Amino acid sequence: MSIKQNVQQILNELPEGVQLVAASKTRTPAEILEAVDAGVQLIGENYLQEAEKAYEVVGNRATWHFIGHLQRNKVKKAVRLFDMIETVDSREIAREIDKRCAEIGKVMPILIEVNIGEEPQKAGALPEDTEQLVRDISALPNIRVMGLMTMGPLSENPEDSRPYFAAMKKLFDRMKESSLPNVEMKYLSMGMTSSYQIAPAEGANIVRVGTKIFGERKYP
Ligand SMILES: *Cc1c(COP(=O)(O)O)cnc(C)c1O
Repeated sequence: MSIKQNVQQILNELPEGVQLVAASKTRTPAEILEAVDAGVQLIGENYLQEAEKAYEVVGNRATWHFIGHLQRNKVKKAVRLFDMIETVDSREIAREIDKRCAEIGKVMPILIEVNIGEEPQKAGALPEDTEQLVRDISALPNIRVMGLMTMGPLSENPEDSRPYFAAMKKLFDRMKESSLPNVEMKYLSMGMTSSYQIAPAEGANIVRVGTKIFGERKYP
């Protein structure tokens, strides 16, 4: 199947109101452009350098989400290029984003990454720390918290993801109900190639799909 056919199939499968992020790490700008031509509106990039190369070709024909691990020394450039940062998991990185956005007069929409499986060594805030983290970050004037994101534990069987997605939805709903000032709990980003059909059923309204669009990656 071509990139175009893959994109069309996924867009047809996704329920109304669920947005597709094309997770584009390791792909060439030409491949990413092909996905955009097929109807992808959101690109998810893990690496700033790759994003810059792709942006030269695709530009504003797509909206750019950062979905990787953001290093402090990359924030200054990242806030210029990206329309949303999905992977904020600490006050330190949030403060840097806020500072660099203030310099260019931008308010950055962000999602808080949650380590819902409480896996050691995995990025993301622990579920029990998430609400306080959101409260603290929402006080920063050049950041707008707009939801939550998770990777979830990887497993052979996508059905294993279901309880973790359900736990994310619960956390998301609880935080939505607390109506925190300057927080708009709108997006729940979860589900990848193996689980993009399951995640929306458990409440995701953004899924991030790479392999199913572009084929197997030659390197991670
Ligand atoms: C690579 C990646 C994805 C997509 O993974 P696939 O299994 O290739 O669909 C989703 N989210 C993040 C954060 C990623 O790094």
